[in-house]
Amino acid sequence: MIKKIDHIGIAVKSIEKARKFYEGVLGMNVTEIEEVPEQKVKVAFLPTGDSELELLESTDPDGPIAKFIAAKGEGIQHIALRVDDIEQALAELKEKGVRLIDEKPRRGAGGARIAFIHPKATFGTLVELCERDD
Ligand code: ZN
Repeated sequence: MIKKIDHIGIAVKSIEKARKFYEGVLGMNVTEIEEVPEQKVKVAFLPTGDSELELLESTDPDGPIAKFIAAKGEGIQHIALRVDDIEQALAELKEKGVRLIDEKPRRGAGGARIAFIHPKATFGTLVELCERDD
């Protein structure tokens, strides 16, 4: 079902500040910054090898990323695993009784179709399933 680690989502207070480290110190490059209004978030992608880092900045004090940072501070917020067919993956997980946050895929950044598995089912990590065209 799982093809690879698609990306690792990192909650930050400020993409502009965080990219100074990831670009200026680590030499990575932000290829794209996109706003996803449905999730009240601004997203910056930094590809590396076969996967990416995804910096997430809240655009709303009530958004999920703002709440995450308020509770836990900045840091890794989720890990995204690539699947070929997200509907089929969700159906399989549902059949196996896995607790899901999203039973249906929703639109993610970069044109992806995404769905979250509940951290209670994954031993503590918020896992995003991610289907992309490329
Ligand atoms: Zn993500």
